[in-house]
Formats: sequence, C-alpha cells, structure tokens
Amino acid sequence: MSVAPRPSILSIDPYVGGESKIPGVNRIIKLSSNEGAFGPPPAAIEAITRAAREAHRYPDGNATALREALGARFGLDPARIITGNGSDELISLLCLAYGGEGTEFIMSAYGFMMYDISGRAIGSRVLKVAEKPGPDGGTVADIDAMLAAAGPRTRIVFLTNPNNPTGALLPNAEVARLRAGLRDDILLVLDSAYAEYVTEPGYDPGDKLVNAAGNTIMLRTFSKVFGLGGMRVGWGYAPADIIDVLNRVRGPFNVASASMAAAVGALSEPGWVEKSVAHNAEWRGKLAAALRAAGGDVWPSHTNFLLADFGSTEAARAVDAKLKSRGLIVRGMAGYGLPQALRFTVGAADECQLLIEALGAPPPGTSHG
Ligand SMILES: *Cc1c(COP(=O)(O)O)cnc(C)c1O
Repeated sequence: MSVAPRPSILSIDPYVGGESKIPGVNRIIKLSSNEGAFGPPPAAIEAITRAAREAHRYPDGNATALREALGARFGLDPARIITGNGSDELISLLCLAYGGEGTEFIMSAYGFMMYDISGRAIGSRVLKVAEKPGPDGGTVADIDAMLAAAGPRTRIVFLTNPNNPTGALLPNAEVARLRAGLRDDILLVLDSAYAEYVTEPGYDPGDKLVNAAGNTIMLRTFSKVFGLGGMRVGWGYAPADIIDVLNRVRGPFNVASASMAAAVGALSEPGWVEKSVAHNAEWRGKLAAALRAAGGDVWPSHTNFLLADFGSTEAARAVDAKLKSRGLIVRGMAGYGLPQALRFTVGAADECQLLIEALGAPPPGTSHG
C-alpha cells in the first residue's frame, strides 16, 4: 500500500508550463511563457559569473543586498520586502501560512493557475469566480462577484493585475474597492508580475494600496521583464506582520546567491525596462494586427503577451498546428478553460516577424501547384 498524501493533493492537476520542444524541429521559437524578449540583462550575466566563485558559501539568508536594491529602486522600505524562489514560492508560503483544511481562497476564473494548485495543496477550497466582459473586449475580474463569494471561511483573495493569461488591467479604483469590501481578516494578494509593462498613467502595482489599507501583499517577479525566469527570484511587499509570518515559514536560504546577485545586477542595468517596454508596445501592436488578420479576436493587453480567441477549439488547434510546423511554440489555453484561445508572448523582433509571417501563411500541407 502506498503512503497516502493529504487527500486534496490528488485533486491537483500538475502545472503544465509552456512547451519548449517540438519533435523533429531544430530551431524552436518559444513564445509560450512570457519570458522577457531580450534575454537576461548583461549586468545580470556578469553577476552570475562572479557569484559562481562563491558557490560554496551559503547565501545571505536575509537577502539584504537584494532587498536594499529593491527598496532603492521602487522607493519601498526594505524591512517590508520578502524575497522568494520565484513569486511562485511566495504564493505557496502564503497558502501555507494562512490556509489549510476548512478555509477558502477566492480567485477570478482566469486568474493565475498557481493559486489553485498551492491552495489545494494545503487543503484550502479555492473558489474561481466567473469574470465579466471587459469594457474594450475580453474579460475582467468581476469585483462584485468576488466580494459576494467571500464568506466566513475566506482567508485569501488573489488578484492578478494585469492578469495572466487574459492581459486585462483593472483600474486602481476597482482594486481599492475590492480591498475596502473585504473583511480586515482577509488577506488580499495582488500579483503584479507584469507591472513593468503597464503604461496606464497612475497605475498602482499594489504598494500604494499596501500602505493605505494593510492586510494586502504585492507580489513581483524577476521572471518577466527582467529576463531571469531561470534564476527563480520573486519578491513581496507587505505590512511588517505579514512579512514576519512569511519569514517564519520560508526556508532559511530560499533564494540562491547567484540568483540574488543576478537580480541586483538586473536592477542596475541602465535603461533595461524602458527599452523592453518600448519594444513591447511596438511589437504587441504589430502582432495584434496579424492575429486579427488571422481571424483572432484579440483581447486588450497591458502585458508582454496577447490572448487571441479563434472562435472554436478546432480553429485554435489549426493555428497552433500551423505555427508548430514552423517551429513556433505558443501557449494553449485549454488548462484555463479557454480551448478556443491561444496566448502569444511578445518575443524578440525576429521572432515576432517569423510569427507574423507564419500567421499569414496557408495551413501546412496546402499545395501551391
Ligand atoms: C509568471 C508569473 C508568476 C511567477 O513568477 P515566478 O517569479 O517565476 O515564480 C506569478 N504570477 C503571474 C501572474 C505570472 O504570470
């Protein structure tokens, strides 16, 4: 007889990341995981190389240099910052600290999948609240419905803003309305993994709300615009009591020294975010036009990816197959309950160009006489 895990664990479908291989295809263009278009910042690569010589030493368990660099960059108190092995780890620690059997978490239907996985893992019930049509197309989180779903067992409400995989941005006032409508003893987790890509004036990635309202944590990552997904560095900003709780449950050396050095290096790279955001705006626009021409309904995006709805599962599969035959990997959305849609990361210029050409090409196997 095998050892039985906590029963809720067997209800989890393991996370399926963006694919990275196509059998028989040599040059792969991976546009399935929203990784930054430019690779790692050069200063991060140098920092990793230097850190290699100190790899026999344990990391600084307090992540002092990284928290200070983050504090300086974003104007935040380093004492209220926690770093993690990707923001995924911080999501998991939040679940561990505040959830468990008999508790409930709330997320929007198309919110980030890891909330569901980490919530179930510790035995919490995770309620997915249907989204509503967005003002300019696509869908957005329905704040009223999320508030209505909160009950006596609710411990955490997760909100991704802008959202992955839809790309939708909720105005600050809506996020503030969510916080104001929740009981004080419910934690609001604002996951702002794509914050740097937002060009909307006045957008608050969460730190202003954390300061104003309490019982709120902002999560950020080095995996997207900073190009360090492989190093696994995320961070959170929250009131001191929440940081204290997370520091009690995390591993003492949860972020590797080379990873911390890489993150500090990335923050020091001059003009990196500006360059990335300008590139993103240019190519996201071109890509959106190509997706529309290919029959996709493109949802409004404030991120480095686009979700396009092709109207049917078959149509989405046909586009996916055509792209795969040319070595282009994009993200299927069946796992999110959107089998008629595909998600496209804005890659480097040559990658976007190849994607645009492939979208306009006839299906594979079509003969031209
Ligand atoms: C990519 C992503 C993360 C995870 O980032 P890591 O820091 O790599 O763990 C978290 N939340 C959302 C919404 C994401 O898209």
